Amino acid sequence: HDAKQQHDGFRRFTVDHNLDPAARLTQLGDLRRGLDDPDQFTLHYQPKIAVGTGELTGVEALARWQHPTKGMVPPNEFIPVLETTSLIHRFTDRVLALALQQARRWLDAGHRVPVAVNVSTRSLLDLSFPDRLAEALESAGVPGELLCIEVTEHSVMSDPTTAIEALRRIRAFGVKTSIDDYGTGYSSMSYLKLLPVDELKIDRSFVADMVADPSSHALVASTIALGHNLGLAVVAEGVEDPTTVAALAALACNTAQGYHFARPLPADDLTERYRLAGQLTG
Ligand code: C2E
Ligand code: MG
Ligand code: MG
Ligand code: MG
Repeated sequence: HDAKQQHDGFRRFTVDHNLDPAARLTQLGDLRRGLDDPDQFTLHYQPKIAVGTGELTGVEALARWQHPTKGMVPPNEFIPVLETTSLIHRFTDRVLALALQQARRWLDAGHRVPVAVNVSTRSLLDLSFPDRLAEALESAGVPGELLCIEVTEHSVMSDPTTAIEALRRIRAFGVKTSIDDYGTGYSSMSYLKLLPVDELKIDRSFVADMVADPSSHALVASTIALGHNLGLAVVAEGVEDPTTVAALAALACNTAQGYHFARPLPADDLTERYRLAGQLTG
């Protein structure tokens, strides 16, 4: 069936949310053992590209789980399961540590590569999260400015008061904040004005349709204008073809991500590719 999924190397392994309690316990057991193993969870990195110049402006870290018998399990299938228990916090700490280690490796090689990390609702709303993040930066020796935290609009709107306070504390470390999958949640303009964020990422569903569907185009155009008027960077996700790049350029969208530019890659592959392209200096 889904050729893209096969191309990503993902085997079919679906987390059934109506799973019986015994099967869910097995899955949680696999996840707990996975977290005890330093090698099962890894990160791939997808470039963020400046639409005007084609330059690499940063990367987004995307989690990959190499299950010992089931193969590669995609994040949308295991993160919701992790989120049902406090294991999600161990996972968030793991991802942050791995991403910051990589940012440090790039720094040591002379490359300043801003790295974005996705943080789930439960971790964002955990009151100890901002302090754990500060400790992670400290122990990796990475300046806050090189980290961006992506949280979804759904996460923020599930408890706006707590989320806004967490984002404010995160930004106090110099860390950037981004609203992911923007347009799929229910934030009103009054919330957008209050949110301590630096960036909006327009959801792939609107970007993918913007050339063919006038209403998606209108939504993308308005979001770019709104974001810019509020002083935010705007990123279009899920850009798969040059026509969409041209449409985004016409709307003065700063940054884009998508298979058209690059799929998520292991760090070394990404380094090789952009060093060869002369975009990683030092
Ligand atoms: P996201 O943060 O919105 O990430 C974008 C997803 O779209 C990634 O899927 C990426 O591989 C995929 N993508 C990028 N460009 C294209 C494109 O041009 N076309 C298509 N069809 N897809 C594209 P992935 O890696 O499977 O991640 C899915 C979601 O899982 C992420 O959505 C994010 O919400 C979540 N996720 C991934 N890693 C983490 C993590 O470390 N922690 C948390 N909490 N969530 C994560
Ligand atoms: Mg993201
Ligand atoms: Mg996204
Ligand atoms: Mg998304």
